[in-house]
Amino acid sequence: MGNTLRDALVDEVRDLYNAEKQLIKALPKMAKAASSDELRAALESHLEETQGQVTRLERVFELLAEKPRGKHCAGMAGIIEEGAETLEEDLDGAVLDASIIAAGQRAEHYEIAAYGTVIAWAEALELSEVAEALTETLDEEKAADETLSALAEAGINEAATAGDGNETEDEDEEEEEEEAEPVKAAEPARVGALARSAKRRAKG
Ligand code: FE
Ligand code: FE
Ligand code: ZN
Repeated sequence: MGNTLRDALVDEVRDLYNAEKQLIKALPKMAKAASSDELRAALESHLEETQGQVTRLERVFELLAEKPRGKHCAGMAGIIEEGAETLEEDLDGAVLDASIIAAGQRAEHYEIAAYGTVIAWAEALELSEVAEALTETLDEEKAADETLSALAEAGINEAATAGDGNETEDEDEEEEEEEAEPVKAAEPARVGALARSAKRRAKG
């Protein structure tokens, strides 16, 4: 690429064009894996929006008098790969859904950051039509992120805690009491116990 801000803008738009296309492949897999009907519907509806976002980016290329061409987005590839690893784990319904939401929100936040940047650059370059088109997409990404948060808070996270708590049943009470005590300055005798409970928490 060249070294003007306009070149950088075109480069980032290419990155986003590729990122959106990666999501078009990933979202149906996430939707299919979801056990909540509402989560599936939200992912499917964002898939439709994402297809519109690709078309909108093609319009942006046109406004910039550039060929619509993608450039591999390693960031989105990494986020999708991490999400796919989660789907391979043998998770139960609500925990799986909570994990799908976690992956989806990482993708949305990546997009929100990227669109925020290209909008600011387009504005600095006084490319107002480009900035407007990209802002429409940014608003959709923010709404998608909020929908995922709402689904998590409306019950998926709580449902996902259903299996929790069992794992501490066998532990002796002394240790549990220690965990419940407010942590003041760690006295030498307590340090080992604290380290053990921290380790246990990290495992669980
Ligand atoms: Fe998008
Ligand atoms: Fe990227
Ligand atoms: Zn999105």
